[in-house]
Amino acid sequence: MSRFYVTTPIYYVNDVPHIGHAYTTVTADALARWHRLLGDDTWFLTGTDEHGLKVQRAAEAAGRSPQEHADVTSARFRETWDLLDISYDDYIRTTEPRHHAAVQAFLQKVYDNGHIYKGAYEGLYCVSCEAYYTEADLIDGVNCPIHHRPVETLSEDNWFFRLSAFTQPLLDWYEANPGAVSANGKRNEALGIIKQGLEDISISRTSIDWGIPVPWDDDHVFYVWYDALINYATAVGYGDDPERFEAWWPAVHHLIGKDILRFHCVYWPAMLLAAGEEPPPHIDVHGFLLVGGEKMSKTTLNQIFPADLVADFGVDGFRYHFLRDVPFGTDGDFSYEAMVSRYNSDLANNLGNLVSRVATVVGKKCDGRGTAPSPDSPLAAIAAESYADAARAWDDVAPSIALDATWRLLREANAYLEANEPWKLDPGPEVDTVMGDALEVLRIVAILASPALPNLTPVIWARIGLDGSPADQRLPEAAAWGGYPAGRPVTKGDPLVPRIGTKG
Ligand SMILES: [Zn+2]
Repeated sequence: MSRFYVTTPIYYVNDVPHIGHAYTTVTADALARWHRLLGDDTWFLTGTDEHGLKVQRAAEAAGRSPQEHADVTSARFRETWDLLDISYDDYIRTTEPRHHAAVQAFLQKVYDNGHIYKGAYEGLYCVSCEAYYTEADLIDGVNCPIHHRPVETLSEDNWFFRLSAFTQPLLDWYEANPGAVSANGKRNEALGIIKQGLEDISISRTSIDWGIPVPWDDDHVFYVWYDALINYATAVGYGDDPERFEAWWPAVHHLIGKDILRFHCVYWPAMLLAAGEEPPPHIDVHGFLLVGGEKMSKTTLNQIFPADLVADFGVDGFRYHFLRDVPFGTDGDFSYEAMVSRYNSDLANNLGNLVSRVATVVGKKCDGRGTAPSPDSPLAAIAAESYADAARAWDDVAPSIALDATWRLLREANAYLEANEPWKLDPGPEVDTVMGDALEVLRIVAILASPALPNLTPVIWARIGLDGSPADQRLPEAAAWGGYPAGRPVTKGDPLVPRIGTKG
C-alpha cells in the first residue's frame, strides 16, 4: 500500500488565522481526501508553532504566561480548521512534550555528528520575523524586507549549525532529486540560494527562555525556527518510534508558501542530512494570496478571515473558490466579486441546477426511480477523460486543474440534457437512458469533487439514492462508467446551492 503524508506549515500562534493560512490548509486537506479515495494510507498533519520572542512578548503584553497565551491562540487555529472541515489526523503543538523530546534527540544527533559549535553572534534581527538579516537583505539598509520596519542589533553567544559544510551535499541532493521542489521556478530559487554559498547559522538563544532547552547546555534554548521545522519529524515518531518514522518519512509532502522557501528548501534538508536522515522528497511551494495586490498582514489591516466568507458562501463554497481559482504555485489576488461569480457559475448553475433538473425529470418521467446509464453514452468517454485529467492534476498538486477537469463533465452533462430535452419527451426508454446517463455523471462527480466539497457531495449522493458516502468509494474503480444502479429513489429536496446576488 502506498503512503501519503502531507503537512502544512505549523502556524505561528501570534497570527490570527486568515484566508492565506486557510488556502494552504484547505489544499492539504483536499490532497489528503483525494489520497484517501485512492486507498492510500494517508496522514495529514497541521498544527501551531508556539515558541520564540514574539510569543513571549505578546504573552507579557496580555498579562499571561507564554503557555496560557499559546493555549488561547493555538485554539483559534484549531477552531478555524474545524469550521472548514479540515480532516487533519494530527494537530501538533511545539509546546508538547513529544516535540521537546524529538527536537532534543534530533539536534543532539546533529551535535554528536560534529555539525554544531559555539560562537559569538551579532546580527541585525527582525523581532516580527524572528530572523537575522544581512545588511544586503534589508530595504534601504535598515528595514526588514517583510515588515518594512527597522531591525534591531542583537548580540549573544550562540550555538551554530555548520550549514556551510552542506553546500555541496545539498547541490548533490538536488541533482539526484530533480522533482523534490515544485514548481520548477521554486527549485531554481532554492538552488540559487545554495549556489551563492551558505553561511553557518545560529540555532540557539540565551536572551529568552521560552523555547526548548539545548540538551548539552542549559543556558540556551533552540531558536524557534529550528525547533519548528522538526515538527514534521516529531509527528511521525522521530526519536520515539523509529519504525514509524522510517515508514512515513519517505512519503512526506510539505506544502509551504514561498516566503518560507529558504527554511524548508535549504535549512531543513541540510539539518536532516546533518542528522543522518533523508531530506523531504516533496516540497510543494505556493505563491502569496494577495489582497488588493498586497500580502495580508496585521500591520496593513488587509486580512480577511475565513468565518466571514463562510457566512456568505458556506464551507464548501469557501473551499471550492480557493482550490479552483488560486492555481497552486502562482500568486493569487483575492476578489469577493470573483468568488461570487465562481460560486454562481460552478456550484449554483453547473452543479446545483443539474442536480435539481435531474431530480425533477426523474420524478415526473421515471416515477422517481433512477434509471440505468447506457454503456454507449457519449458521456462515458468524457467521464473517463475527466477522471484521468483530474487524477493527474491532483497528483501534480494542481487542484484548480483537477476541479476544472471534473467540472468539464458537468458542463457536458448539462449540454447533453439541453440537446436531448428529456423534459419534452414522453416517459419511455429514451428518457430512461438520458436520465441514467445524467445520474451516472452525478455519481461520478460526487466522488471526484468530494475532496473539495465534503458537505455537498454526500447530499447529492443521498438524493440520487446511493448508500454510504462518496468519500468511502475507491478510485479508480468507482469512477468507471456504469456504476449507477437502476431503481433507487431520487429525491428533489431544497435547492442544493442557492445563487448569491452581488452585493451592491
Ligand atoms: Zn520582519
